[in-house]
Amino acid sequence: GAVIGILGGGQLGRMLAVAASRLGFRCHVFEPGAHPPAGDVAWKVTTAGYDDAAALRAFAESVDVITYEFENIPTAALDILEALRPIRPGREALRVSQDRLIEKDFLSGSGLTVAPYADVGDAASLEAALARIGTPAILKTRRFGYDGKGQARIMAPGDAGQALADMAGAPAVLEGFVDFEREISVIAARGVTGEVACFDPGENVHEGGILRTTTVPAEIRPMMQADAVLLAGQILNALDYVGVMGVELFVTGRGLVVNEIAPRVHNSGHWTQAGCAVDQFEQHIRAVAGWPLGDGGRHADVVMENLIGEDMDRVPEIARERHASLHLYGKTEVKPGRKMGHVNRVKTAG
Ligand code: ATP
Ligand code: MG
Ligand code: MG
Repeated sequence: GAVIGILGGGQLGRMLAVAASRLGFRCHVFEPGAHPPAGDVAWKVTTAGYDDAAALRAFAESVDVITYEFENIPTAALDILEALRPIRPGREALRVSQDRLIEKDFLSGSGLTVAPYADVGDAASLEAALARIGTPAILKTRRFGYDGKGQARIMAPGDAGQALADMAGAPAVLEGFVDFEREISVIAARGVTGEVACFDPGENVHEGGILRTTTVPAEIRPMMQADAVLLAGQILNALDYVGVMGVELFVTGRGLVVNEIAPRVHNSGHWTQAGCAVDQFEQHIRAVAGWPLGDGGRHADVVMENLIGEDMDRVPEIARERHASLHLYGKTEVKPGRKMGHVNRVKTAG
């Protein structure tokens, strides 16, 4: 049988491996860290760094196609892998999404609305950016940010010095603060033949920069739902994309503003496990394996709640709830802010 290579062994890699094995594939996971959550369910795990060329080559040679659960894979490693096996989603999606500045240039160049932004490298460029964009604003590192890490709010010009210090010398972008009504995301998929299938937009609530809940359906007008799905499809086509992508959007009085894209399965798409016949993980595996896509249709209303850190204490009571499906990632060490699992609560008719 075919083997799917997965770069990254976290919970996303784990759920991808579960979906792949349901379809009869075996998974080989490449992960530098010890005891990865995906290791429990993968056929094979390589524990090595992304600077280990021999390990990367052996990994690639053992698989038929390579995919990933995170976007920050070093370019040199990708070069080694790509010489041996196809990487899906492709290099262009990674190049664009690894750097917030390139991503914003790409999105606005595609005719989509993003927050006003400017490249910031030092105090002078930050001052010039603030003069143009104004406050409130958010300074974000161009690379490696997640869960709101690598961000500093600038409420007034006097906050600029501290915000720049928070970047610790890393290249950054300044973003104007978007006065949004709500946050939504579209989980979209594109197959090797170019077919596109989108899941319904979900409404996201963040706490301390970390996703707390996703609710479907999102409370938005049908026109805006159509806009969200169409712009996601436009992004996938522009990148000649293969796989699942998460597109984060701000809903404003003047339409949708794109926050960021993630070239992979996405936390805000976990609800699909309880709301759709084919969930985002199976959809991604289907796409990268060259299968036809599932249709993305939704058969239930769902609220997904992340179980973060101490939320794990509530697992025994959640396990007794009706219409609640639990997903635990097998992480032994509980840390504040660490995603330990999630629960999908299904609202059935009547
Ligand atoms: P993720 O874990 O989603 O990758 P991240 O670290 O890449 O997070 P962002 O998505 O850029 O961070 O920002 C996290 C949250 O901060 C957003 O979901 C939103 O709530 C808020 N936020 C970010 N940028 C803006 C903005 N320009 N205007 C208003 N709110 C913002
Ligand atoms: Mg992000
Ligand atoms: Mg985000």
